Amino acid sequence: MKNVLVVGGAGYIGSHTVFELIENDFSVVVVDDLSTGFEKAIHKDAKFYKGNIKDEEFLNEIFKKEKIDGVIHFAAFSQVGESVLNPLKYYENNVYGTMCLLKSMIKNNVNNIVFSSTAAVYGEPKKVPIEETDEKSPTNCYGETKLAIENMLKWFNNAYGLNHVCFRYFNAAGAHKSGLIGEAHSFETHLIPLVLKVALKQKDYISIFGTDYNTKDKTAVRDYVHVQDLATAHIKALEYLINGGKSDVFNLGSGIPCSVREIINAAKEVTGLNIPVKEEKRREGDPSILTASFLKAKKVLNWEPKHKNIKEIIESAYLWHKNNPEGYVVKAMSINY
Ligand code: UDP
Repeated sequence: MKNVLVVGGAGYIGSHTVFELIENDFSVVVVDDLSTGFEKAIHKDAKFYKGNIKDEEFLNEIFKKEKIDGVIHFAAFSQVGESVLNPLKYYENNVYGTMCLLKSMIKNNVNNIVFSSTAAVYGEPKKVPIEETDEKSPTNCYGETKLAIENMLKWFNNAYGLNHVCFRYFNAAGAHKSGLIGEAHSFETHLIPLVLKVALKQKDYISIFGTDYNTKDKTAVRDYVHVQDLATAHIKALEYLINGGKSDVFNLGSGIPCSVREIINAAKEVTGLNIPVKEEKRREGDPSILTASFLKAKKVLNWEPKHKNIKEIIESAYLWHKNNPEGYVVKAMSINY
């Protein structure tokens, strides 16, 4: 049985990947400092160490104790607006934190890492769907830190033989089919959870940021990809690296363009509830259209998104939000995997 270290396994995409790994008979060790993740999101069959990746001794202890075949690294701050206001926090946690993790991996002869990057490395695209070779020009500090890590991985691969797969996620959405884990942030900024909060009367209206984009209905278009599809990609990448695949970078998206208004309408249909909207000006730094070409992941990793219908994605998110209106806080005691 392969032993995987999931760093940031208590977060949104991390916790879903841990579930998927365990369902596929991997043995899982989770490291998380719980700064943004939740202990309740960690699968009961995973071994959990609470701590920060900047703590080298802590990491070295784990690598010595556990026989790790590969690392999946999700631990990062990911709020775009905050990253612009507080870049120090983002460079320190994301870039320096990853450097410490890689240093410890090299020291302990662990050579395979799957890294969570982001479509934010592209900035405002010149064309869509975006391909991996397209220009990288982040418009915020969050994307900049992820690009810095991608470059660090390239040089570490060259010098130390550390093999990596970087995944540039488009818009992660949805929740585990069980309804037991889902998206929960202490400060929510993402469209789908906010729209569902409005449907559930936890919020009065949903703001539409920008109604003057050059798109089909004048609102911004994104590529929403189900979190369970993202989880599956990580397992494929890990197997690819363990079997000697060469280091590479892949987009992960559904390839289906969806506007803000389309999301709101789909959520109305799924929930059967009223969702009042308020049209507002554009949010700073938001590109008009971001959609992925995932052909490279399909060709090299044999990965393809299974959830291709936005209503299906929203349905899974709704199941989670309806049953856990306060995220992990209130239902904490009643979760039973
Ligand atoms: N958005 C919106 N209202 C909100 C939150 C988001 O209109 O309350 C828009 C946002 O401007 C973007 C899209 O929805 O065009 C997706 O935003 P989200 O924050 O979910 O993800 P991002 O694409 O920024 O990573």
